[in-house]
Amino acid sequence: MIDPETLLSSRAMQIDASGIRRAFQLGAKLDNPINLSIGQPHFPVPDALKDAAIKAIREDANGYTLTSGHPSLCDSLRDSIAKDLGWPRDDASIDVMVTSGTSGALILAAWVLLDPEDELIIPDPNFVIYPALGPMTGAKVVSCNTYPDFCMTAERLEPLITEKTKLVIINSPGNPTGVVLSDGQMRDVAALCRDRGVMLLSDEIYDLFTYSSMRDERGRSPSPGNHGRDMLIVRGFGKNYGCTGWRLGYAAGPSWLIHQMSKFQQYSFVCAPSMAQHAVIAANGVDMSGIVAEYESKRNMVLDILSPLMHVAIPDGAFYAFPEVPGSLGMTGTQFTERLLEHNVIAIPGGVFSDRDTHFRISYATDDDRLETGLRAIAKAVQTH
Ligand code: PMP
Repeated sequence: MIDPETLLSSRAMQIDASGIRRAFQLGAKLDNPINLSIGQPHFPVPDALKDAAIKAIREDANGYTLTSGHPSLCDSLRDSIAKDLGWPRDDASIDVMVTSGTSGALILAAWVLLDPEDELIIPDPNFVIYPALGPMTGAKVVSCNTYPDFCMTAERLEPLITEKTKLVIINSPGNPTGVVLSDGQMRDVAALCRDRGVMLLSDEIYDLFTYSSMRDERGRSPSPGNHGRDMLIVRGFGKNYGCTGWRLGYAAGPSWLIHQMSKFQQYSFVCAPSMAQHAVIAANGVDMSGIVAEYESKRNMVLDILSPLMHVAIPDGAFYAFPEVPGSLGMTGTQFTERLLEHNVIAIPGGVFSDRDTHFRISYATDDDRLETGLRAIAKAVQTH
C-alpha cells in the first residue's frame, strides 16, 4: 500500500505553502472581488516581445538552448550589467547565465552554496521562496528582523553572521514591502559580506520598478553591484515586462559560482524556455518608463488613502505596500484580511511572509478605478470597527 506519510521526505513536510493557498481559496468564494493579492503586473506584454516570441516559435527556435543561455541573450545581459553596474564587459572572472525565472537562479545558488548545517540569512518579512531554501538544502534559515522600516542594514545583519553563515539574501525593491535600500546601505552590506567571507545574493527582480526618489543618475535602483563584483546579482524579466509565465531570469556574478550553477542547471532545469529567451533579446529596446510612471502614481494613491489611517513604510519600488494593521483594532494580519474579505477585497496576511502577523500585503498592480475602490474599502474596514 502506498502511504504518503512514509514516502514523503522530511524536507517536503517542512515546507508549508498553506498561507498563500488559503488567501486564494477564500478569495475564490467572492463574486468579482477587488483582488489586491496578485504579485504580477497588470499590463500586457509589450508587442515587440510577443512578436519576437511568436517569430522564434515559427522559425523553429524551439529546441534546447545552451545550458547557460542563448549566446545573444548572454551578450546583451553582459551589456546591461556593464551599463547598470559598471562591471567590465570582458572580465573572465565574472559571468552571466540565463535561468528559469528568478526562482531558478535562487534555487541553483542555494543548491551549490549550502550544505546541511550551513546558515542562510534572509530578511523578515521576505519573499516566500527564501525560507523554503532551508529545507531544500538542509541549511538553517536565520531571519533578519527588518521591522518597522524593512531595511536589511549592515547593522541589523552583522550580529547574525556566524562562522556557519554562507549566504545572505537581500531584496530591494522588496517583496512584500516595496521598500528600496539606499546606495549607502547597499555599500555597507556589500562590505560586511565581503569582510566576513559570505556570499551576498541580491534579488533585484523589481529593479525596473524603482520610483523617482530612489533612482540613481542612470535611472537605476541602488544595487550592491555598484560596490563590488564578489556577489551574485539575480534579476528577472517576468515583472519588468509582464511575462511572469515565461519563466525567465538571470544571474551575474563570480565565474566560479556561475559555472557551478550552470552545472546544476544542466541536471535540473536544463535550460530556460527558448522562445522566451529569443523574445527578451528584443526587450532591449523596449521603453517601460511610461508604465513605471503609472505605477508610481498608483503607489502615491496607496499612500494618500492609507497613510492617514495606519503606518505604511514608504514603498519606493515594486508594486506592493505592507501596511501595519492599526493597533486600535486589536487584530492580527490574518484576522484583518478576513475582515477585508467581507468588504470584497483580497489581501495577504503579513504572517505569510514573516515570523510576525501584524501587517498585510497589498499589490497595487491593477487599474486605477479598482485600486481606488479597494483602498477605500480598506479604509472603511479600519474606520467601521
Ligand atoms: N524574487 C522576488 C522578490 C519575488 O517577488 C519573486 C516573484 N514573486 C521572485 C523572486 C520569483 O520570480 P520569478 O517569477 O522570476 O521566478
